[in-house]
Amino acid sequence: MPDTLTMVVSEGRLRDGRVADIGITGDRITAIGDPNTLRAASVIPAGGRLVTESFVNAHLHLDKVHTLDMVGDAALLAYTAGSMGAAMTGIELARAVKERYDRSWILPNVRRALQDAVRFGTLHILAFTDVDTTGRLEGFQAVVDAREEFKDVLDIRVVAFPQDGVVRDPGAAELCEQAMASGADVVGGIPWIEYSDADAARHIEWACALAARLQRPVAMLVDDASDPSLTTTAMLAEAMIEHGLQGRGIACHARAVGSYGEPAQRRLAGLALRAGLGFVSDPHTGPGRLPVDLFDRLGVAVALGQDDIEDAYYPFGRNNMIEVAFLAAHALGFLSKHDQERLLNFVTTGAARVLGVHDHTIAEGNVANLAIHECEDVPALLRNHVAPRWVVSRGRVAAETQERTSFIWDRGRSD
Ligand SMILES: [Zn+2]
Repeated sequence: MPDTLTMVVSEGRLRDGRVADIGITGDRITAIGDPNTLRAASVIPAGGRLVTESFVNAHLHLDKVHTLDMVGDAALLAYTAGSMGAAMTGIELARAVKERYDRSWILPNVRRALQDAVRFGTLHILAFTDVDTTGRLEGFQAVVDAREEFKDVLDIRVVAFPQDGVVRDPGAAELCEQAMASGADVVGGIPWIEYSDADAARHIEWACALAARLQRPVAMLVDDASDPSLTTTAMLAEAMIEHGLQGRGIACHARAVGSYGEPAQRRLAGLALRAGLGFVSDPHTGPGRLPVDLFDRLGVAVALGQDDIEDAYYPFGRNNMIEVAFLAAHALGFLSKHDQERLLNFVTTGAARVLGVHDHTIAEGNVANLAIHECEDVPALLRNHVAPRWVVSRGRVAAETQERTSFIWDRGRSD
């Protein structure tokens, strides 16, 4: 144990039920000891509360947050109607907002969503930003500015995302390349939006070639409608292998995969494993969903994403990944205690695996990114889905939340 711990989380309950002191030096966990054995000037008195890793939001459209009132309900109703044609109509309607894109009004919305992230202990975010001929680089720039503002507490990975396609929207590819040269971390894509499989293949080829050249990962929205004829997920996995991008790709949504027969789902899972392609499912934001249970059982890396926060596609959301897991429990039928534990993995350790965040577990030597909750076990955590009592980012307390109810109604009787 190091002589000089800077912080101790005393009597924290780990997920296996064990109560322990967690010692931190600087930004790292440096000791895990018996309860009340570690000392430091700064102490978080967990007192038997559940301590988990901080949360990972593996898919968020960060430039669009809090824009629903600029669009109205038409786009939302179209996107959630269930058909591919309607989903595309929703995206067209949502595009109206981007004609008014300006970083000056986008940045305050992004800040609000990121403050929520800190409050709810969501310290890693894969942030998609629309980069196209309508929105230009305005949303991207606002998110890059916010990434800088929050860099001491949040890990934000910015995706240059051509929301309207690259064949359909000539000029978008060049803008994305400009964004990659101006600080974007990940090459984005949305091949299913193109008008033909040949165009989708061109879209994927462009993105994977660019990622390989820049040595960056790719993250794409694939097959985002319940239509079994959509197969861009497999195309992405094959292109990753061709371009030597194994382990550096993320497939978001993949709703069509849920409408494949099980043999086709298993083939795709095998291909994804070979490509090292991770998946992010957002079952609360639209109809159709990735077969999360099967993919997870087959060893494919799976995460849950918030996807949207009060935008044209989804009216709620607050960067609270326990809330996302709570919604997924219903949408996916993950209700047993065992499945609740799996859900928690999908927003912590498993989601970190999808993002390529290494060593995101509570263990000596790893970064001290922790959430200390008001409850003692995972079912209570999901049931309550409230902000953690304390959020520790890189060894420092980043947020503290206290919720308290005073019962007044029967005071006359009990006093
Ligand atoms: Zn999305």
